[in-house]
Amino acid sequence: MKKNDTVTLNITDIGIHGEGIGKAAGFPLFVKNALPGDVAEVVITKMKRSYGYAKMLRLIEPSPDRTEPPCPVAGRCGGCQIQALSYEKQLAFKQDLVRQRLIRIGGFGAEQIDAVMEPIRGMAEPWRYRNKAQYPVAAGDDGRVKAGFYAGRTHYLIEQTDCLLEPQINQRILKAVLDFVNGQGIPAYDEQNGTGILRHIMIRHGFATGEVMVCLMVRKYREQMWKGIDTALQKAGLLPAHIVSLGFSVQPEKNNVIMGKEYIPVYGEACLNDRIGDVSFRISPQSFYQVNPSQMKVLYDLAAQCAGLTGTETVWDLYCGIGTIGLYMARQAGEVIGVEVIPEAVENARQNAQINGITNARFYEGAAEDVFENILAAGGAFSGEQVVIVDPPRKGCDEKLLDAITRFSPSRIVYVSCDPATLARDLKFLCQNGYELRRVAPVDQFCHSVHCEVVVSMSRVGSKQ
Ligand code: SAH
Repeated sequence: MKKNDTVTLNITDIGIHGEGIGKAAGFPLFVKNALPGDVAEVVITKMKRSYGYAKMLRLIEPSPDRTEPPCPVAGRCGGCQIQALSYEKQLAFKQDLVRQRLIRIGGFGAEQIDAVMEPIRGMAEPWRYRNKAQYPVAAGDDGRVKAGFYAGRTHYLIEQTDCLLEPQINQRILKAVLDFVNGQGIPAYDEQNGTGILRHIMIRHGFATGEVMVCLMVRKYREQMWKGIDTALQKAGLLPAHIVSLGFSVQPEKNNVIMGKEYIPVYGEACLNDRIGDVSFRISPQSFYQVNPSQMKVLYDLAAQCAGLTGTETVWDLYCGIGTIGLYMARQAGEVIGVEVIPEAVENARQNAQINGITNARFYEGAAEDVFENILAAGGAFSGEQVVIVDPPRKGCDEKLLDAITRFSPSRIVYVSCDPATLARDLKFLCQNGYELRRVAPVDQFCHSVHCEVVVSMSRVGSKQ
């Protein structure tokens, strides 16, 4: 087999980026936009030593699990990698993905996993669930600035202002911003040369409050250039009716980082309010906040169940962001101690405790792998049973932190993960160092994408709960 060969392929699997995988003479080929159950004619585009890439030429027999994707740019946009797969099969795929990662990377036995793994919790209506979007902008062929999403693993802009995962009003907001930008002749940022101005448009919603935050990422900010943007949004009926916060994030670097360090507020506060259950949250533009609020409640309720609180425990909320998980369960805990690396998020977390009248929570700024041990070293009495919750970014926890946690020896550990592979790696360490799995509960936070969230409950070997 070599490049440019044409083969007929039975697609049997999905890769981590959502590609279909089929074997030709035992050799795996990755095919974009192919799904398990498809029989396809493909042409090989690249050969590696143990696998290759191929492009679909013709779908000979479509998979029975295919569904007509409602989005006009599905398959081209990099966001929803598996929108053409029925939602039921998406859930089955994620369930299996988590299981396989735990077995292959975590080294757990299949029976052991099957005994603790729960069916993935999906959404009844898996559309328009996201509360945050960051639209890249680019100059179109006609010279006008356009917004959309990047095609999978490229920086080629697919124009799309009505993403079906986002609230409908985003389309009106984008139109008003782009009309202003084009009217003023403000150029889109040019990645190749590092020139131009507008890089991204971020829109974030508080679903429970109806509040909207708009943040424009620019290479440099000149007040004169943007004079009148608030009036333009007002004329479009968007501000103050919907938009409560408008500002600029200055990102001068020639890299892919979206949010800059400097934030310039233009209208309203540099904050958005939302509510999960009966806890209110203030969220600054730089702070992390889960993107699917209805599944966020499912996730936090699960985490709270796993924490098994009776009112006396010390809950460690490591990687706490704006304090969401810890504050959500603070009323059932003796004390909450949060650790987070982004200063603005820590500030939000402290304010969030205050606005909810929560007095038994304190927050520390810094990397969890450094700060956790420092807090322990400083001494002090941590009352009641110890429960450690970790919710790290995709790269998972630093081993230094896992080591410190196991030496601290809490009764229970709750691991909230957005990457099953690093989760499996970290669970292997924890289970080799005194902990056992109690519950593994996947939650579909990112419907139509290949990503999956998982809550894992662990307890110290030999303990009752
Ligand atoms: N638990 C929060 C946030 C989870 S996202 C929530 O549910 O909303 C992960 C968070 O970890 C982000 O806020 C990120 O800023 C933070 N983070 C990343 N690396 C970190 C580290 N080494 N130590 C502490 N926090 C870190």
